[in-house]
Amino acid sequence: MASGGIEPRKLSVFGSTGSIGKNTLDVIEQVGGREFFEVLALTGNSNTELLAEQAKASGAKLAVTADADRYQSLKDALSGSGIAVAAGESGLMEAADLDAEWVMAGIVGTAGLAPTLAAARKGADIALANKECLVSAGEIFVQAVHAGGGRLIPVDSEHSAIFQALEEDQRHALERIILTASGGPFRTWTREEMAGVTVEVARAHPNWSMGLKISIGSASMFNKALEMIEAKHLFDVEPDQIEVIVHPQSIIHSMVGYRDGSVLAQLGAPDMRTAIGYALTYPLRPNLTVERLDFAKLARLDFEAPDTERFPALRLARTALERGGLQGAVMNAAEETAFSAFVEERITFLQMADIVEAVMEKMTGHSPATNIEEVFAADAEARRKAGEQISKVSART
Ligand code: NAD
Ligand code: MG
Repeated sequence: MASGGIEPRKLSVFGSTGSIGKNTLDVIEQVGGREFFEVLALTGNSNTELLAEQAKASGAKLAVTADADRYQSLKDALSGSGIAVAAGESGLMEAADLDAEWVMAGIVGTAGLAPTLAAARKGADIALANKECLVSAGEIFVQAVHAGGGRLIPVDSEHSAIFQALEEDQRHALERIILTASGGPFRTWTREEMAGVTVEVARAHPNWSMGLKISIGSASMFNKALEMIEAKHLFDVEPDQIEVIVHPQSIIHSMVGYRDGSVLAQLGAPDMRTAIGYALTYPLRPNLTVERLDFAKLARLDFEAPDTERFPALRLARTALERGGLQGAVMNAAEETAFSAFVEERITFLQMADIVEAVMEKMTGHSPATNIEEVFAADAEARRKAGEQISKVSART
Protein backbone atom coordinates (compact mmCIF):
# COMPACT_ATOMS: atom_id res chain seq x y z
CA MET A 1 0.00 0.00 0.00
CA ALA A 2 1.05 3.54 -0.62
CA SER A 3 2.88 5.29 2.14
CA GLY A 4 5.38 8.08 2.70
CA GLY A 5 2.81 10.82 2.53
CA ILE A 6 1.21 9.83 -0.79
CA GLU A 7 -2.42 10.95 -0.68
CA PRO A 8 -5.34 8.78 -1.78
CA ARG A 9 -7.18 10.53 -4.61
CA LYS A 10 -10.30 10.35 -6.71
CA LEU A 11 -9.14 9.86 -10.26
CA SER A 12 -10.14 9.13 -13.85
CA VAL A 13 -8.18 7.68 -16.75
CA PHE A 14 -9.11 8.99 -20.19
CA GLY A 15 -7.89 6.57 -22.84
CA SER A 16 -7.47 3.70 -20.37
CA THR A 17 -7.39 1.04 -23.11
CA GLY A 18 -4.36 2.55 -24.86
CA SER A 19 -0.65 2.22 -24.22
CA ILE A 20 -0.56 5.16 -21.74
CA GLY A 21 -3.86 4.06 -20.18
CA LYS A 22 -2.72 0.48 -19.51
CA ASN A 23 0.54 1.72 -18.02
CA THR A 24 -1.44 4.16 -15.86
CA LEU A 25 -3.65 1.40 -14.46
CA ASP A 26 -0.53 -0.63 -13.74
CA VAL A 27 1.03 2.30 -11.85
CA ILE A 28 -2.21 2.88 -9.91
CA GLU A 29 -2.13 -0.79 -8.94
CA GLN A 30 1.53 -0.58 -7.88
CA VAL A 31 0.92 2.53 -5.78
CA GLY A 32 -2.07 1.17 -3.88
CA GLY A 33 -4.86 0.07 -6.19
CA ARG A 34 -8.57 0.33 -5.55
CA GLU A 35 -8.24 0.27 -1.77
CA PHE A 36 -6.20 3.44 -1.97
CA PHE A 37 -7.45 5.34 -5.04
CA GLU A 38 -11.08 5.84 -5.94
CA VAL A 39 -11.43 5.32 -9.69
CA LEU A 40 -14.29 7.43 -11.04
CA ALA A 41 -14.22 7.04 -14.84
CA LEU A 42 -12.36 5.04 -17.45
CA THR A 43 -12.76 5.82 -21.14
CA GLY A 44 -11.87 3.90 -24.29
CA ASN A 45 -12.96 3.68 -27.88
CA SER A 46 -13.47 0.46 -29.84
CA ASN A 47 -12.01 -2.08 -27.41
CA THR A 48 -15.05 -2.32 -25.11
CA GLU A 49 -14.11 -5.80 -23.92
CA LEU A 50 -10.86 -4.55 -22.40
CA LEU A 51 -12.57 -1.41 -21.09
CA ALA A 52 -15.19 -3.52 -19.26
CA GLU A 53 -12.47 -5.72 -17.78
CA GLN A 54 -10.51 -2.69 -16.60
CA ALA A 55 -13.62 -1.06 -15.10
CA LYS A 56 -14.44 -4.19 -13.09
CA ALA A 57 -10.85 -4.70 -11.94
CA SER A 58 -10.39 -1.08 -10.84
CA GLY A 59 -13.86 -0.64 -9.32
CA ALA A 60 -14.61 2.31 -11.63
CA LYS A 61 -17.94 4.10 -11.22
CA LEU A 62 -18.35 4.92 -14.92
CA ALA A 63 -17.08 3.37 -18.15
CA VAL A 64 -17.30 5.36 -21.39
CA THR A 65 -16.76 4.26 -24.96
CA ALA A 66 -16.12 7.17 -27.32
CA ASP A 67 -17.66 5.10 -30.10
CA ALA A 68 -21.42 5.64 -29.77
CA ASP A 69 -22.08 2.43 -31.77
CA ARG A 70 -20.36 0.37 -29.07
CA TYR A 71 -22.68 1.52 -26.27
CA GLN A 72 -24.73 -1.68 -26.20
CA SER A 73 -21.73 -3.98 -26.28
CA LEU A 74 -20.19 -2.12 -23.32
CA LYS A 75 -23.54 -2.16 -21.51
CA ASP A 76 -23.81 -5.94 -22.04
CA ALA A 77 -20.25 -6.54 -20.90
CA LEU A 78 -20.92 -4.62 -17.67
CA SER A 79 -24.47 -5.79 -16.96
CA GLY A 80 -24.98 -6.62 -13.31
CA SER A 81 -21.71 -4.95 -12.29
CA GLY A 82 -23.28 -1.73 -11.02
CA ILE A 83 -20.87 0.27 -13.19
CA ALA A 84 -22.57 3.10 -15.11
CA VAL A 85 -22.07 3.17 -18.88
CA ALA A 86 -22.01 6.09 -21.33
CA ALA A 87 -20.92 6.60 -24.94
CA GLY A 88 -19.94 9.14 -27.57
CA GLU A 89 -18.80 12.70 -27.09
CA SER A 90 -21.47 13.34 -24.46
CA GLY A 91 -20.26 10.27 -22.59
CA LEU A 92 -16.71 11.64 -22.55
CA MET A 93 -18.04 14.95 -21.22
CA GLU A 94 -19.96 13.05 -18.53
CA ALA A 95 -16.66 11.47 -17.46
CA ALA A 96 -15.00 14.90 -17.44
CA ASP A 97 -17.78 16.30 -15.28
CA LEU A 98 -17.16 13.93 -12.34
CA ASP A 99 -15.29 15.34 -9.38
CA ALA A 100 -11.92 13.81 -10.11
CA GLU A 101 -8.92 15.25 -8.31
CA TRP A 102 -6.54 13.75 -10.87
CA VAL A 103 -7.11 12.90 -14.52
CA MET A 104 -4.80 11.03 -16.85
CA ALA A 105 -5.23 12.62 -20.28
CA GLY A 106 -4.33 9.54 -22.32
CA ILE A 107 -6.62 9.83 -25.34
CA VAL A 108 -4.74 10.06 -28.64
CA GLY A 109 -5.18 13.07 -30.91
CA THR A 110 -7.49 16.08 -30.96
CA ALA A 111 -10.31 13.80 -29.77
CA GLY A 112 -8.83 14.29 -26.30
CA LEU A 113 -9.05 18.07 -26.30
CA ALA A 114 -12.70 18.69 -25.31
CA PRO A 115 -12.91 16.24 -22.38
CA THR A 116 -9.44 17.15 -21.06
CA LEU A 117 -10.25 20.85 -21.26
CA ALA A 118 -13.50 20.24 -19.38
CA ALA A 119 -11.69 18.29 -16.65
CA ALA A 120 -9.12 21.10 -16.39
CA ARG A 121 -11.88 23.70 -16.03
CA LYS A 122 -13.38 21.63 -13.21
CA GLY A 123 -10.09 21.87 -11.34
CA ALA A 124 -8.62 18.38 -11.62
CA ASP A 125 -4.85 17.98 -11.70
CA ILE A 126 -4.14 17.04 -15.30
CA ALA A 127 -1.50 14.41 -16.00
CA LEU A 128 -0.93 15.27 -19.63
CA ALA A 129 0.04 12.57 -22.10
CA ASN A 130 -2.26 14.00 -24.79
CA LYS A 131 0.21 16.57 -26.12
CA GLU A 132 -2.30 17.58 -28.80
CA CYS A 133 -4.15 19.65 -26.14
CA LEU A 134 -1.17 21.97 -25.92
CA VAL A 135 -0.13 21.83 -29.56
CA SER A 136 -3.59 22.84 -30.76
CA ALA A 137 -4.86 25.02 -27.97
CA GLY A 138 -1.80 25.88 -25.85
CA GLU A 139 -2.76 29.26 -24.35
CA ILE A 140 -6.42 28.34 -23.89
CA PHE A 141 -5.58 25.02 -22.28
CA VAL A 142 -3.00 26.47 -19.87
CA GLN A 143 -5.47 29.22 -18.93
CA ALA A 144 -8.19 26.63 -18.29
CA VAL A 145 -5.92 24.74 -15.90
CA HIS A 146 -5.07 27.96 -14.04
CA ALA A 147 -8.71 29.02 -13.88
CA GLY A 148 -9.75 25.58 -12.58
CA GLY A 149 -7.05 25.68 -9.90
CA GLY A 150 -5.53 22.28 -10.70
CA ARG A 151 -1.96 21.51 -11.72
CA LEU A 152 -0.66 20.61 -15.16
CA ILE A 153 1.85 17.77 -14.83
CA PRO A 154 3.51 16.52 -18.00
CA VAL A 155 3.61 12.78 -18.72
CA ASP A 156 5.40 12.86 -22.06
CA SER A 157 8.79 11.46 -21.01
CA GLU A 158 10.78 14.45 -22.32
CA HIS A 159 8.55 16.99 -20.63
CA SER A 160 8.40 15.00 -17.43
CA ALA A 161 12.21 15.03 -17.46
CA ILE A 162 12.30 18.81 -17.89
CA PHE A 163 9.62 19.24 -15.23
CA GLN A 164 11.76 17.18 -12.86
CA ALA A 165 14.99 19.05 -13.69
CA LEU A 166 13.49 22.55 -13.73
CA GLU A 167 13.43 23.80 -10.19
CA GLU A 168 10.91 26.58 -9.76
CA ASP A 169 13.30 28.85 -7.86
CA GLN A 170 15.85 28.50 -10.68
CA ARG A 171 13.58 29.78 -13.42
CA HIS A 172 15.40 33.12 -13.49
CA ALA A 173 18.50 31.22 -14.64
CA LEU A 174 16.84 29.02 -17.27
CA GLU A 175 18.61 29.36 -20.60
CA ARG A 176 17.38 26.47 -22.76
CA ILE A 177 15.60 23.20 -22.73
CA ILE A 178 17.04 20.30 -24.65
CA LEU A 179 14.58 17.68 -25.87
CA THR A 180 16.14 14.33 -26.59
CA ALA A 181 14.89 12.27 -29.55
CA SER A 182 15.68 8.63 -30.19
CA GLY A 183 15.72 9.32 -33.93
CA GLY A 184 13.24 6.47 -34.44
CA PRO A 185 13.69 3.45 -36.70
CA PHE A 186 14.92 5.58 -39.66
CA ARG A 187 17.58 7.54 -37.83
CA THR A 188 20.34 6.42 -40.20
CA TRP A 189 18.19 5.96 -43.33
CA THR A 190 18.39 8.09 -46.47
CA ARG A 191 15.23 9.70 -47.86
CA GLU A 192 15.39 7.25 -50.79
CA GLU A 193 15.32 4.36 -48.31
CA MET A 194 12.41 5.92 -46.40
CA ALA A 195 10.36 6.57 -49.54
CA GLY A 196 8.71 3.16 -49.83
CA VAL A 197 8.40 2.06 -46.19
CA THR A 198 5.27 0.28 -44.98
CA VAL A 199 3.32 1.04 -41.80
CA GLU A 200 4.66 -2.16 -40.22
CA VAL A 201 8.26 -1.07 -40.74
CA ALA A 202 7.62 2.52 -39.63
CA ARG A 203 5.84 1.55 -36.42
CA ALA A 204 8.70 -0.59 -35.08
CA HIS A 205 10.27 1.78 -32.55
CA PRO A 206 13.76 0.79 -31.37
CA ASN A 207 13.29 1.67 -27.66
CA TRP A 208 9.68 2.41 -26.69
CA SER A 209 6.50 0.36 -26.97
CA MET A 210 3.68 2.84 -27.77
CA GLY A 211 0.42 3.39 -29.67
CA LEU A 212 0.39 3.46 -33.49
CA LYS A 213 0.10 7.24 -33.93
CA ILE A 214 3.08 8.14 -31.76
CA SER A 215 5.17 5.27 -33.15
CA ILE A 216 4.72 6.54 -36.71
CA GLY A 217 5.31 10.06 -35.38
CA SER A 218 8.62 8.91 -33.91
CA ALA A 219 9.67 7.52 -37.30
CA SER A 220 8.81 10.77 -39.12
CA MET A 221 9.91 12.90 -36.15
CA PHE A 222 6.50 14.59 -36.20
CA ASN A 223 6.21 13.44 -32.60
CA LYS A 224 9.27 15.55 -31.73
CA ALA A 225 7.77 18.42 -33.74
CA LEU A 226 4.62 18.28 -31.60
CA GLU A 227 6.77 18.03 -28.48
CA MET A 228 8.64 21.24 -29.35
CA ILE A 229 5.33 23.12 -29.36
CA GLU A 230 4.18 21.26 -26.25
CA ALA A 231 7.37 22.42 -24.49
CA LYS A 232 6.78 26.06 -25.40
CA HIS A 233 3.41 26.05 -23.65
CA LEU A 234 4.41 23.93 -20.68
CA PHE A 235 7.54 25.86 -19.79
CA ASP A 236 6.73 29.28 -21.24
CA VAL A 237 9.96 29.53 -23.24
CA GLU A 238 10.79 31.27 -26.52
CA PRO A 239 11.22 29.17 -29.69
CA ASP A 240 15.00 29.74 -29.73
CA GLN A 241 15.27 28.29 -26.20
CA ILE A 242 14.02 24.91 -27.43
CA GLU A 243 16.68 22.56 -28.78
CA VAL A 244 16.46 19.00 -30.05
CA ILE A 245 19.30 16.48 -29.84
CA VAL A 246 19.19 12.94 -31.16
CA HIS A 247 20.12 10.45 -28.45
CA PRO A 248 19.58 6.92 -29.78
CA GLN A 249 19.59 5.08 -26.42
CA SER A 250 16.63 7.06 -24.94
CA ILE A 251 18.23 6.99 -21.48
CA ILE A 252 18.47 10.74 -20.98
CA HIS A 253 14.83 11.75 -21.29
CA SER A 254 15.63 15.48 -21.70
CA MET A 255 17.69 18.26 -20.13
CA VAL A 256 17.56 21.80 -18.82
CA GLY A 257 20.44 24.22 -19.45
CA TYR A 258 21.07 27.11 -17.03
CA ARG A 259 22.85 30.42 -17.57
CA ASP A 260 25.89 29.33 -15.57
CA GLY A 261 26.57 26.56 -18.10
CA SER A 262 25.11 23.78 -15.92
CA VAL A 263 22.90 21.19 -17.56
CA LEU A 264 20.54 19.04 -15.48
CA ALA A 265 19.24 15.82 -16.99
CA GLN A 266 16.74 13.16 -15.94
CA LEU A 267 17.71 9.59 -16.80
CA GLY A 268 15.90 6.30 -16.62
CA ALA A 269 14.99 3.14 -18.49
CA PRO A 270 12.62 3.85 -21.41
CA ASP A 271 9.46 3.00 -19.47
CA MET A 272 6.51 5.41 -19.35
CA ARG A 273 5.54 4.22 -15.90
CA THR A 274 8.21 6.40 -14.29
CA ALA A 275 6.74 9.59 -15.78
CA ILE A 276 3.18 8.41 -15.07
CA GLY A 277 4.05 7.61 -11.46
CA TYR A 278 5.70 10.98 -10.96
CA ALA A 279 2.58 12.70 -12.30
CA LEU A 280 0.36 10.57 -10.03
CA THR A 281 2.13 11.26 -6.74
CA TYR A 282 3.88 14.59 -7.48
CA PRO A 283 5.72 16.10 -5.68
CA LEU A 284 6.47 12.76 -4.01
CA ARG A 285 7.90 9.75 -5.82
CA PRO A 286 6.22 6.35 -5.77
CA ASN A 287 7.90 3.00 -5.33
CA LEU A 288 7.85 1.37 -8.80
CA THR A 289 9.11 -1.94 -10.13
CA VAL A 290 10.54 -0.47 -13.33
CA GLU A 291 13.97 -1.54 -14.57
CA ARG A 292 16.91 0.17 -12.87
CA LEU A 293 19.72 1.58 -15.00
CA ASP A 294 22.91 -0.42 -14.92
CA PHE A 295 25.55 2.09 -16.01
CA ALA A 296 28.30 -0.49 -16.41
CA LYS A 297 26.12 -2.34 -18.93
CA LEU A 298 25.07 0.86 -20.67
CA ALA A 299 28.71 1.88 -21.12
CA ARG A 300 27.94 4.80 -23.46
CA LEU A 301 25.43 7.45 -24.39
CA ASP A 302 25.51 8.87 -27.93
CA PHE A 303 24.33 12.19 -29.35
CA GLU A 304 23.82 13.49 -32.88
CA ALA A 305 22.54 16.75 -34.34
CA PRO A 306 19.06 16.29 -35.82
CA ASP A 307 18.82 16.34 -39.63
CA THR A 308 16.01 18.65 -40.76
CA GLU A 309 16.56 17.72 -44.42
CA ARG A 310 15.73 14.07 -43.86
CA PHE A 311 13.15 14.91 -41.18
CA PRO A 312 11.32 18.07 -42.35
CA ALA A 313 8.87 17.79 -39.42
CA LEU A 314 11.47 19.50 -37.22
CA ARG A 315 11.71 22.42 -39.63
CA LEU A 316 7.91 22.69 -39.79
CA ALA A 317 7.74 22.80 -35.98
CA ARG A 318 10.15 25.77 -35.97
CA THR A 319 7.94 27.53 -38.51
CA ALA A 320 4.85 26.84 -36.41
CA LEU A 321 6.60 28.06 -33.25
CA GLU A 322 7.73 31.27 -34.92
CA ARG A 323 4.32 31.98 -36.47
CA GLY A 324 2.48 31.16 -33.26
CA GLY A 325 -1.29 31.70 -33.20
CA LEU A 326 -3.20 28.80 -34.67
CA GLN A 327 -0.27 27.25 -36.53
CA GLY A 328 0.05 24.52 -33.91
CA ALA A 329 -3.59 23.54 -34.42
CA VAL A 330 -3.10 23.63 -38.19
CA MET A 331 0.08 21.54 -38.10
CA ASN A 332 -1.45 19.02 -35.72
CA ALA A 333 -4.70 18.57 -37.66
CA ALA A 334 -2.89 18.28 -40.99
CA GLU A 335 -0.52 15.75 -39.48
CA GLU A 336 -3.34 13.62 -38.01
CA THR A 337 -5.02 13.59 -41.41
CA ALA A 338 -1.80 12.74 -43.24
CA PHE A 339 -1.05 10.02 -40.68
CA SER A 340 -4.44 8.37 -41.30
CA ALA A 341 -3.87 8.52 -45.07
CA PHE A 342 -0.46 6.87 -44.65
CA VAL A 343 -1.94 4.11 -42.45
CA GLU A 344 -4.64 3.58 -45.09
CA GLU A 345 -1.88 3.37 -47.73
CA ARG A 346 -3.23 6.35 -49.67
CA ILE A 347 0.04 8.28 -49.44
CA THR A 348 3.68 7.41 -48.84
CA PHE A 349 5.67 7.96 -45.66
CA LEU A 350 7.49 11.03 -47.02
CA GLN A 351 4.33 12.59 -48.43
CA MET A 352 3.06 13.11 -44.86
CA ALA A 353 5.43 16.06 -44.35
CA ASP A 354 4.69 17.46 -47.85
CA ILE A 355 0.99 17.54 -47.00
CA VAL A 356 1.49 19.17 -43.62
CA GLU A 357 3.75 21.81 -45.16
CA ALA A 358 1.28 22.55 -47.98
CA VAL A 359 -1.58 23.02 -45.50
CA MET A 360 0.53 25.24 -43.21
CA GLU A 361 1.43 27.41 -46.21
CA LYS A 362 -2.25 27.79 -47.13
CA MET A 363 -3.22 28.76 -43.59
CA THR A 364 -0.65 31.29 -42.43
CA GLY A 365 -3.05 34.13 -41.74
CA HIS A 366 -4.48 33.20 -38.35
CA SER A 367 -4.19 35.41 -35.34
CA PRO A 368 -4.10 33.74 -31.90
CA ALA A 369 -7.28 31.94 -30.85
CA THR A 370 -9.39 33.71 -28.26
CA ASN A 371 -11.69 30.75 -27.65
CA ILE A 372 -11.77 27.02 -28.22
CA GLU A 373 -14.31 27.24 -31.06
CA GLU A 374 -11.68 29.06 -33.15
CA VAL A 375 -9.28 26.20 -32.50
CA PHE A 376 -11.85 23.63 -33.60
CA ALA A 377 -12.61 25.72 -36.71
CA ALA A 378 -8.92 25.93 -37.68
CA ASP A 379 -8.57 22.20 -36.97
CA ALA A 380 -11.53 21.40 -39.27
CA GLU A 381 -10.27 23.68 -42.04
CA ALA A 382 -6.77 22.17 -41.86
CA ARG A 383 -8.27 18.66 -42.09
CA ARG A 384 -10.30 19.71 -45.14
CA LYS A 385 -7.27 21.22 -46.85
CA ALA A 386 -5.14 18.18 -45.97
CA GLY A 387 -7.87 15.97 -47.48
CA GLU A 388 -7.70 17.96 -50.72
CA GLN A 389 -3.90 17.62 -50.83
CA ILE A 390 -4.12 13.90 -50.17
CA SER A 391 -6.63 13.44 -53.02
CA LYS A 392 -4.31 15.34 -55.37
CA VAL A 393 -1.26 13.32 -54.35
CA SER A 394 -2.99 9.93 -54.39
CA ALA A 395 -4.51 10.66 -57.83
CA ARG A 396 -0.97 11.13 -59.11
CA THR A 397 0.46 7.88 -57.70
P1 NAD B 1 -3.06 4.49 -28.03
O1 NAD B 1 -3.49 4.49 -29.44
O2 NAD B 1 -2.35 3.30 -27.50
O3 NAD B 1 -4.34 4.74 -27.08
C1 NAD B 1 -5.22 5.79 -27.34
C2 NAD B 1 -6.38 5.80 -26.39
O4 NAD B 1 -7.31 6.80 -26.87
C3 NAD B 1 -7.16 4.48 -26.33
O5 NAD B 1 -7.70 4.30 -25.05
C4 NAD B 1 -8.30 4.71 -27.33
O6 NAD B 1 -9.44 3.95 -27.02
C5 NAD B 1 -8.58 6.18 -27.13
N1 NAD B 1 -9.14 6.81 -28.33
C6 NAD B 1 -8.75 6.61 -29.61
N2 NAD B 1 -9.50 7.34 -30.45
C7 NAD B 1 -10.39 8.02 -29.68
C8 NAD B 1 -11.44 8.94 -29.95
N3 NAD B 1 -11.73 9.31 -31.20
N4 NAD B 1 -12.13 9.44 -28.91
C9 NAD B 1 -11.85 9.09 -27.64
N5 NAD B 1 -10.87 8.20 -27.32
C10 NAD B 1 -10.15 7.67 -28.33
O7 NAD B 1 -2.20 5.82 -27.82
P2 NAD B 1 -1.04 6.09 -26.75
O8 NAD B 1 0.24 5.70 -27.35
O9 NAD B 1 -1.43 5.57 -25.43
O10 NAD B 1 -1.03 7.68 -26.72
C11 NAD B 1 -1.97 8.46 -26.03
C12 NAD B 1 -1.47 9.89 -25.94
O11 NAD B 1 -0.29 9.91 -25.15
C13 NAD B 1 -1.06 10.49 -27.28
O12 NAD B 1 -1.37 11.85 -27.27
C14 NAD B 1 0.44 10.29 -27.33
O13 NAD B 1 1.09 11.26 -28.13
C15 NAD B 1 0.79 10.48 -25.87
N6 NAD B 1 2.02 9.80 -25.45
C16 NAD B 1 2.10 8.44 -25.52
C17 NAD B 1 3.27 7.78 -25.12
C18 NAD B 1 3.35 6.27 -25.12
O14 NAD B 1 4.31 5.72 -24.61
N7 NAD B 1 2.41 5.56 -25.68
C19 NAD B 1 4.35 8.54 -24.68
C20 NAD B 1 4.24 9.92 -24.62
C21 NAD B 1 3.07 10.54 -25.01
MG1 MG C 1 7.75 11.95 -25.82
